[in-house]
Amino acid sequence: MQNLSHPRHNRSTLAKRLRQLSFAVVAFGGCSAFSPSEPELPAGAVPLGAQPSYTAWFERTEACSGLAGQFKQIQWFVVPDAETFQTSAGPKVGMWEKVGNVARIIIAGKYVGHEMVIRHEMLHHLLDREGHPPEYFVTRCRLTWESWSSGVADR
Ligand SMILES: [Zn+2]
Repeated sequence: MQNLSHPRHNRSTLAKRLRQLSFAVVAFGGCSAFSPSEPELPAGAVPLGAQPSYTAWFERTEACSGLAGQFKQIQWFVVPDAETFQTSAGPKVGMWEKVGNVARIIIAGKYVGHEMVIRHEMLHHLLDREGHPPEYFVTRCRLTWESWSSGVADR
């Protein structure tokens, strides 16, 4: 009777689970309007809905770095359930890239709730560059695996 209750496509359970997990499916401006010339996302990557903790983590990253940026310029993607995903630079748990005026951050599913991984990519966004200047990634913000674990006692 209710057509709405029947899924139109036989989507994978993964995709369904992800959608249920998303707290809200927020369409960031222009999100679906990728032009064909833009770099491809890693295999299996799908848009990541708004994560409530991310705003606070962004503010924290602005504070430690002394930099300011636009959280809304970031388009978030996740590779569901993945420990890592393949990139041209090898397997990664997170990746930041600039596509025109917007930044894309892709996160392996296992790490969407991992503060260091998320804030590490946010710091790339604030610095607007790849690479890891130690002043920011280690000294100021401790957003590498080593510096993160050594700083746990301080937090
Ligand atoms: Zn990095």
